[in-house]
Amino acid sequence: MRARAILIIIVLSVAMTQGAQDRPIGSLPYTPSLDVKAMDTQADPCVDFYQYSCGTWMKTNTIPPDQASWSVYRKLYDDNLRFLWGILDDLSKPRSTRNANQQKIGDFFAACMDEAAVERLGSAPLKPALDEIAALNGPQGLAVLLAHEHLTYGSSGFLFDFGSSQDYNDAEQVIAFAWAGGLGLPDRDYYTKPETASEEIRQKYVAHVQRMLELLGDPPDQARAGAAAVMRLETALAKASLTRVESRDPYNLSHRMTRAQLQSLTPSFDWDRYFSGVGLSRVQTVNVTEPAFYKALERELKGTSLADWKHYLRWHLVDTMSPYLSAKFEEANFDFFSRTLRGVQQQPPRWKRCVGLVDRMLGEALGREFVSRAFSPDMKQRTVRMTQQIEDAMERDIRSLTWMSAATRQRALEKLRAIRNKVGYPDRWRDYGPVRVRPDDFAGNVERAVTFDVRRTLGKIGKPVDHTEWSMTPATVNAYYDAQMNDINFPAGVLQPPLYDAKMDDAPNYGNTGGTIGHELTHGFDDEGRQFDAKGNLRDWWTKDDAEQFTTRAACIVDQYSKYTVVDDIKINSKLTLGEDVADLGGEILAWMAWKTEVAGKALDSRDGFTPEQRFFIGFAQWACENQRPENLRVSAITNPHSPGKYRINGVVVNMPEFQEAFKCKAGQPMVAEKACRVW
Ligand SMILES: [Zn+2]
Repeated sequence: MRARAILIIIVLSVAMTQGAQDRPIGSLPYTPSLDVKAMDTQADPCVDFYQYSCGTWMKTNTIPPDQASWSVYRKLYDDNLRFLWGILDDLSKPRSTRNANQQKIGDFFAACMDEAAVERLGSAPLKPALDEIAALNGPQGLAVLLAHEHLTYGSSGFLFDFGSSQDYNDAEQVIAFAWAGGLGLPDRDYYTKPETASEEIRQKYVAHVQRMLELLGDPPDQARAGAAAVMRLETALAKASLTRVESRDPYNLSHRMTRAQLQSLTPSFDWDRYFSGVGLSRVQTVNVTEPAFYKALERELKGTSLADWKHYLRWHLVDTMSPYLSAKFEEANFDFFSRTLRGVQQQPPRWKRCVGLVDRMLGEALGREFVSRAFSPDMKQRTVRMTQQIEDAMERDIRSLTWMSAATRQRALEKLRAIRNKVGYPDRWRDYGPVRVRPDDFAGNVERAVTFDVRRTLGKIGKPVDHTEWSMTPATVNAYYDAQMNDINFPAGVLQPPLYDAKMDDAPNYGNTGGTIGHELTHGFDDEGRQFDAKGNLRDWWTKDDAEQFTTRAACIVDQYSKYTVVDDIKINSKLTLGEDVADLGGEILAWMAWKTEVAGKALDSRDGFTPEQRFFIGFAQWACENQRPENLRVSAITNPHSPGKYRINGVVVNMPEFQEAFKCKAGQPMVAEKACRVW
């Protein structure tokens, strides 16, 4: 999944601006998709187009104290949460007219908001799992215990990540997947980078682990030893994990194995017991994305003492569950992961954490409420139409490419025509029937919702793919392309003003939402997506010459973005951001083509002193207005496949002659590339 905006981080952010404003809203506020007041017209568009389009926005939208960054996308998500708050607040008051879905989300929210009850319990919700860890007596027990923890809390934090996904070789089938996992820091690079800044973070991380173990009741000496053991174990796993750039090549992740092969990779782990524990006794095939990781895991299973494994399991248990425990756990978690790592000054208010949690845990039940109030059939119809127009533009674009042979072109068109368009919300809503939600059991509700989701994921194994399924919730302000599904997905949350604005004329809407649709479509043909065929199978459909042509053109983008600075002296890791950068440029080219077709023959007027062409580009730039804390930028430099907002705009327009003509920019000016890059 490769979304356009930065994924919402786990510790749900978003704004508490002023106390007076901190109340639900009955309808979503309106901001136009082109906001002249957000511009800095003193700036020269040919010198820094981002400053020109977003300058006043950046000045007047300081980052709220509970945010790591602030952007048009986040602000809209904040509005969505505030709007959903009113709905949930209403549904949390028990009355007979609630349907089953409404009862679930209302009660989930009510239990989360009951701070006094959460406080009274302290760490009590962890007691059964802590007892289970204490009773662990050897490797066989470990497999049983892990199966239980994966089912109850999700797997990614506990040794390895296990679930299901589409078979790389047959995208219509779902098979078991065993991924790397087991780390506490946001990326394997944190454990391996020698720089002082990384060393400092490692030290603070170890101190944080120690603090959390102390909160569980460990004496300081024991907690210190426990934290050191955690660091040693995680470092060994991190060193054996692929980098994010390596993971961009799907061939590096495709290793279909029999159950026996997996067992021989990790002889010390009892897979039979694990599989039976998660309800998969009959599973025969597993894709092991990173065999080297599992070899390292075997070394650790053999060489690490039982006492150290217990420290590790206790740490990951409390780390996973701390957001749902009493304030001291929640605050310690916030202190390291938000304050230290990302520079956030204060926790978001509880209502916001709770609304965000309902969105994550029961997102389609909440999404139904969102869609029925905030996404009209007319909005859907308009954006469906725009999506078709962008696809038509891509067809014309592919037909006109000079560097592609007829054979590859044919395959590219086949793939384009096979893409499924999903707009707004799923055709079939997820049934949360099996999730039991109680208004007085917050941590229990979280565990049961997680278990439902893990079982749902594992239950897909051996079955054909469900093409109606979404991996983002309707209220999400984001979008994605999925290479194995070969579909593009635009939740209702991202099709709202100021991103799509039905009151505005075409130019800024095509520049903005048209560009987003083009962006996701282009992902099907970026460095990663192009390796999958029309059916979503990992299969090379390129002639050798065409593949070389692609690589040469992509290298131009890698080279261009590698010169941009993220923060301090850290440059963009442009091999990590390549897919996004290619999609940003390709998306805007397609949006331009679609817009020009839509308005052909119509007389367009200037508005506010800007020509329609200028308005197209200003509308484009204003999706990306943002402010970021330096700490957050340092995390982004390692983990985020997207370039910072400034370069997602300036990096695109320097390559577009249409932009240079619209603003009369001249060769030699900063917004005119000496050698323009173009892939699609
Ligand atoms: Zn993207």
